Amino acid sequence: MAERLTDYQRKRYTRQLLLPSFGFDAQEQLVVSTVMVLGVGGLGCAAAQYLCAAGVGHLILVDDDSVELSNLQRQVLHGEADIGRQKVDSAHDSLLRLNPDITIETVAQKLADAALLKKIKSCHVVLDCSDNLDTRRQLNRLCFQAETPLVSGAAIRFEGQVAVFTMQESTPCYECLSQRFGEQQLSCVESGVLAPLVGIVGSLQALETLKLLGGAGTVPVGKLMLFDGAYSQWQTFQLEQWKDCPVCSRSTGAD
Ligand SMILES: [Zn+2]
Repeated sequence: MAERLTDYQRKRYTRQLLLPSFGFDAQEQLVVSTVMVLGVGGLGCAAAQYLCAAGVGHLILVDDDSVELSNLQRQVLHGEADIGRQKVDSAHDSLLRLNPDITIETVAQKLADAALLKKIKSCHVVLDCSDNLDTRRQLNRLCFQAETPLVSGAAIRFEGQVAVFTMQESTPCYECLSQRFGEQQLSCVESGVLAPLVGIVGSLQALETLKLLGGAGTVPVGKLMLFDGAYSQWQTFQLEQWKDCPVCSRSTGAD
C-alpha cells in the first residue's frame, strides 16, 4: 500500500516525479519498498547508492567482508578511513549521508537458508551483487522459493552482465542461465576489473530495480544483457527456461 509523499519528499524526488512514466505513483511505491543488496563490494556500492538516493524506503545490506585497501579502487561507498571496518557499516554510514530519509538494516554475516529466506520474504526485490557461485546459487534458489524478483549482476575484467529473474511460471532463473552460458568461475580477485565496469553494472541493476518497484518502463525479464567494456558494446540474449532446471522446473516427472 503506497503512502502519500511528504513535502520534503516531493522536493527531494522532484526529478523523478516529473517523469511521465514514473511520477507520484511509482515514487510512492519506492518509499514503502524493501530491497536487499547482497554484497557491498563494487556492484553493491554502485547499486545501493542509487537505490538510496532515488528513495527506496528500506535497504537491507548483507556482507560479511571488511574493507581492504585494494577495494577502494572501485567500491565507492568505502574510504581510506573505513579500512578494517565491516563493509555493511561503512556503506550504511555513506548511504545515510546521501539520504537520511531512508532506513538501512545491516547483516555482517553469511546467512544460512532459513534466515536468508525469511529476510528475502520481507523484500520486494533482491539484488545479487555477490562475487561467488555458492552465494549466487543460494540466492537464486531462495528467491525462487519466495517468488521474489532477483536482479543479478556480475563484472570482471572489461566484461559485465545483468539479468532480471521475476520467478514467475515459465520464466528462466539464474540456474537456467548458468546451464546455457556457463558459470563465471573467476572472480575479480584473480582476474582484475576496471573500476567503472562495476559502476555500469551496478547502476543498471539499480535501474531495473526501480522499474520493477515503480511499475515503470519495460523490464527485460529473462534476458541476459552483456556488456563488453573493451569495445563499449551491449548484447542482449533471450534466455529460455531449462526444462531440467533443478530450481525452477515445475515438471517433476508427473507427465
Ligand atoms: Zn531455472
